[in-house]
Amino acid sequence: MTKRSWAEPFKIKMVEPLHMTTRADREKTIAEAGYNTFLLKSRDVYIDLLTDSGTSAMSDRQWAGMFLGDEAYAGSENFYRLEETVREVYGYKHLIPTHQGRGAEHLLSKLCIKPGDTIPGNMYFTTTRAHQELAGGRFVDVIIDEAHDPQSEHPFKGNVDLGKLSTLIESVGAKSIPYFTMHATVNMAGGQPISMANARQVAGLCRKHGIKIFLDATRAVENCYFIRQREPAYADKSLADILRELCSYTDGCTMSGKKDCLVNIGGFLAVNDDDLADGARNMVVLYEGLHTYGGLAGRDMEAMAIGIRESIELDHMHARIGQVEYLGHLLQKAEIPAVRPIGGHGVFLDAARFLPHIPREEFPAQALAAALYVDSGVRAMERGAVSAGRDTQTGKNRFPKLELVRLTIPRRVYTQAHMDVTAESVCELYANRHRIAGLRFTHEPRHLRFFQARFEPVQGDRIIRDER
Ligand SMILES: *Cc1c(COP(=O)(O)O)cnc(C)c1O
Repeated sequence: MTKRSWAEPFKIKMVEPLHMTTRADREKTIAEAGYNTFLLKSRDVYIDLLTDSGTSAMSDRQWAGMFLGDEAYAGSENFYRLEETVREVYGYKHLIPTHQGRGAEHLLSKLCIKPGDTIPGNMYFTTTRAHQELAGGRFVDVIIDEAHDPQSEHPFKGNVDLGKLSTLIESVGAKSIPYFTMHATVNMAGGQPISMANARQVAGLCRKHGIKIFLDATRAVENCYFIRQREPAYADKSLADILRELCSYTDGCTMSGKKDCLVNIGGFLAVNDDDLADGARNMVVLYEGLHTYGGLAGRDMEAMAIGIRESIELDHMHARIGQVEYLGHLLQKAEIPAVRPIGGHGVFLDAARFLPHIPREEFPAQALAAALYVDSGVRAMERGAVSAGRDTQTGKNRFPKLELVRLTIPRRVYTQAHMDVTAESVCELYANRHRIAGLRFTHEPRHLRFFQARFEPVQGDRIIRDER
């Protein structure tokens, strides 16, 4: 490490003015949005840390690429450019573009899962599990226990517990496991990476039993940056080489291009198996579009192809994760309860410890996200019991160990000063945490309820109560 601080490897060419609001405006707005930050209008938000999905700033090269869109229905130039890029960078043989990540998850789940099947993985992801369940499968989490402990400093909290995986294979039989879902990084654990050593061992075990592995490659390059930093054998390797090795342990991937790939829309399914690729090409025409565009315009595929190459630049990834760490360190210094170590795409506040007076049944993370918006116009996202939904068998609320609020950093969008303002607001709320009220549902949707649910404060009519 050098003694100097780092700075972004880009300069800003165009700016988008933000709409400034008052606290009184925000109290009204959040009540109208049912205390769900997903239901806020973007114009009412000051610093938008809801998600890093599709919110990145594209480079001038990507924008220039948009003008090279070959908007042919079939066989556009941009498809072939994207196919070549995915083959070269990720190393998979067949590319099936989709409108975004869940489109790819849908195809893969429908093609591979039979009712009654079990799909293990290193922690669930909302859309991934939903598609596995819709196909009749059951997701089983086999991540290491440290992943569920926000205090653990384990450097690879995304690792798979090989003991749990072996036991599961023995108990259900390899034949009822169509594939293993490998997340890199693990979003729901706080953007935590899986190590190369662990990925290799998982591949060894799965291959011994004839079980395929599909990578959720959404933030795989961010994962590779952590491997380079934390696994000594990789300290001098390029992100490109590390990524190729990681992918080599898997049989294909689902990808949300809206994260690592630096685009506002797009995704893909990539597989090595010829028959599976054939099946996916057959199915993609039903749900997404022809196999050479999969719901994307030619220009979108071009921007994604360029974004993929930018994503594996070390300077880019250093600045991306460096900014997340900058915010994380400000909060750590103030002793704010948050997931450790700091993850790749955001800082995850530990709402259960932040608001110990609010029982889990009153959704402390949902309440904290709403309170943060009222305090400063910063929009965050709940990642706890509301996101976890209900058990498909019992219909009861799931209460995962982690009850988090995610401050997600879009790539190349905000400055260090925006991070400072965010940290100040979180600290202010922490000092006044006893004033934050719990929430109850007034409307609960059936699928992925966190997106459209509505709430009201359990007592009173404000999320931040007056000092008594
Ligand atoms: C965003 C995301 C997805 C789903 O991708 P979309 O593009 O939002 O459909 C899948 N897995 C992970 C880990 C994600 O973060």
